[in-house]
Amino acid sequence: MKANRSEALFAEASQHLVGGVNSAVRAFRSVGGTPVFMRRGEGAWIEDVNGKQYVDYVLSYGPLAIGHAHPDVVQAISETAASGTSFGAPTELETDMAKMVKSIMPGIERIRMVNSGTEACMSAVRLARGYTGRDRILKFRGNYHGHVDALLVEAGSGVLTLGIPGSPGVPASVTETTLTAPFNNIDAVREVFATYGDSIAAVLVEPVTGNMNCIPGLPDFLQGLRDLCDDSGALLVFDEVMSGFRASLAGAQGLYGITPDLTCLGKVIGGGLPVGALGGRADVMDELAPTGPVYQAGTLSGNPLAMASGLATLRHLAQPDVHAQAQQWTTQLLTGLSERAAAANVGLVTHQAGTMFGLFFTDAQQVLGFEDVADCNAERFVRFFHGMLEAGVYLAPSAFEAGFVSTAHDQAALSHTLEAAERVFADL
Ligand SMILES: *Cc1c(COP(=O)(O)O)cnc(C)c1O
Repeated sequence: MKANRSEALFAEASQHLVGGVNSAVRAFRSVGGTPVFMRRGEGAWIEDVNGKQYVDYVLSYGPLAIGHAHPDVVQAISETAASGTSFGAPTELETDMAKMVKSIMPGIERIRMVNSGTEACMSAVRLARGYTGRDRILKFRGNYHGHVDALLVEAGSGVLTLGIPGSPGVPASVTETTLTAPFNNIDAVREVFATYGDSIAAVLVEPVTGNMNCIPGLPDFLQGLRDLCDDSGALLVFDEVMSGFRASLAGAQGLYGITPDLTCLGKVIGGGLPVGALGGRADVMDELAPTGPVYQAGTLSGNPLAMASGLATLRHLAQPDVHAQAQQWTTQLLTGLSERAAAANVGLVTHQAGTMFGLFFTDAQQVLGFEDVADCNAERFVRFFHGMLEAGVYLAPSAFEAGFVSTAHDQAALSHTLEAAERVFADL
């Protein structure tokens, strides 16, 4: 048997990197086996260190909305790098990026670029607290907002729970102002507001979730959040780090027609380079330093390479029909998977929001929140994951991660995927 280079590389990496990886989600802890080491990507395809090719539905966990190594992105990064990689002084690219995002998401009046989604969410919380003069924040079970102390909370068993630290190293004093409620349950949120309404600074929500797999918020739930925030003076923060430029070109706010006070962005906005952004109402955003008293800064924020990469990605994505075509491939993918699962008698619920999708192995009729996802057939997912990997289809190694389609996916990629799925479903 040919030696598997990934195994050798992982063994070596594990002696130097914690768990052999630089982000916990990359380890194959929930599916077993060895993480596959990749060496190149082009369009919808990636190649591992053994030379095996895969259709990629991870796309770096979302950022690569126009596929791997898109010529526009490669050119933008190379040309920008040749003129210097960072100045610590303003560049025109940052204004270009701000204008681009505002033209796509009209609810955003002012932007601050940061370096990751985590930073965007962390700054959103501080800004909301500074602006409202209130301390409490409300988040939803199964929603992820980066590894921010106050947002790493575990829910208790009740409908409404006070935050319990979700990780060692997070003091209870940091999470005691974090309230949690179940996703897609507006009655539970009304109860929270009845008790705590006048002390809540912000409601943070993934309007389309990507971190308990892909669950679109119910329109009444999201509109209900908007109304409760308007009535109580709390700020509505859409964490669109994943759904931005995916649920629709204008993200979930475009899809639902609901304008949040603040929006957290990341992933696609950097086109594969490390970027995050916080944007929203001018009167709120202007509370940030230097115009306001809420401190926020970053040595590499608005980095020229990251702006160039993100701008090239957004420019390509915003062309007429480009996003719609990728959404169309996503629909075809899910239709094809559903048909093949049904033919093999495999219970499968699929979700789509633009170019994001979710696959749930369950006989339930619907999947609306964290408990529903946790009830899905985990063993079946593991077999499906490994079967697809073997057949040259790369999915995230966790039943709690969403899938992504890029503008580079095409009929060939789809056919390869559906043929593989047909064989794998038959053995589930
Ligand atoms: C990925 C993600 C984050 C964190 O972004 P990082 O760039 O990994 O720090 C925050 N919120 C959501 C919804 C995400 O999907």
